[in-house]
Amino acid sequence: MVKITTRPQLTAEQAAALRREMPDDPVRDAQRLACECCGRGVVVTELTPVRIAERLGMGGSYVSPITVPGHAPKSRPKPPPNAVRVAICPTCAARRAEAKAYVEQHPALEQRYGNVVRQHVETALQALDVIGLPRPTNETHWAAIWPRLWRAAGGIAWSNPETVSPGYVNRRPWDHVRAAQRDEMRKAYADGLRALVARHQPSVPLPCPGPRGTATGCLYCGVSSVTLAAADVARLGGVQQAQDAAWRRVLTNQTALGRTGPEKVRGHLCATCSAALDKAGGAVGVTSRTQALADHLVATGRAKLAGSLRDWLQGHEGAVYVLPAHAVTGRPPSSTPWVHAAALLDAVQAPPEVALPTS
Ligand SMILES: [Zn+2]
Ligand SMILES: [Zn+2]
Ligand SMILES: [Zn+2]
Repeated sequence: MVKITTRPQLTAEQAAALRREMPDDPVRDAQRLACECCGRGVVVTELTPVRIAERLGMGGSYVSPITVPGHAPKSRPKPPPNAVRVAICPTCAARRAEAKAYVEQHPALEQRYGNVVRQHVETALQALDVIGLPRPTNETHWAAIWPRLWRAAGGIAWSNPETVSPGYVNRRPWDHVRAAQRDEMRKAYADGLRALVARHQPSVPLPCPGPRGTATGCLYCGVSSVTLAAADVARLGGVQQAQDAAWRRVLTNQTALGRTGPEKVRGHLCATCSAALDKAGGAVGVTSRTQALADHLVATGRAKLAGSLRDWLQGHEGAVYVLPAHAVTGRPPSSTPWVHAAALLDAVQAPPEVALPTS
């Protein structure tokens, strides 16, 4: 049997793109020093500021603040062991200046993050270079993206103890940044964009996921739809996922919902009623329903009425039928929860001699 393998041929562009993705090993270079950021070789003259990158073992700080001229005179203090001399290339120096200017234009940043914020912004700008994207010109957009980029780009500078190596330089800037980390930075950038898109949108309605084409609502309160902030919907992975998260599937029977009968009832509870169900012990019945209505009253500023409701239901036989679930009332779902309990609430607030509401 002959096994035929077709080897896919890469186009020249694909090959070049793939090549860009593959980190190259640094090369020996006795003439130049590596840029402390991107690792490319920098020609050092008498006037080039040279910094000392210290390899302190596991983590720790590594670029010392000492700036010495390119050819330090012998009288200078001896560099610490494991010291690596690094320079900064013009591109990276310009980026550092850009970060500094940005922080100076936004004084609130220093108040929020401390004076390390300049490094954070610089790291985020480095990340943009690594993944080959321009800095967003829109201030709001950049403000949403850079903190994410900075977090994803931790340790990408050449002077990181894991990458700094004396006598070596990168063939091309940023060659030392691993593909996995590049992916993380791209993801952080995309997350920032997604958050921006979400911020521009109003909250998203999440209708009760009933059978296709039918209007259904929460089994307990009858609400037909809940809303969630667009950013939260995005965080959950989309409308479908958000809908699944917002509505709890319940399989119960008619009796538990407040109308005698053996029929099984399949449906959903809204997040509020679902929380009440858990709070009341997890059983579908009048106890968790009372809890749900009481929680709704408290949430809408009617805590006193919630207390009266509990007292009233305790003092009345057949509470289970007085406070039925919306699902067994035959009413259509509503944009407002607990519409079907209006008569009961009137009775609760009325003097005690008023008769029980029927229906
Ligand atoms: Zn550089
Ligand atoms: Zn925008
Ligand atoms: Zn509900």
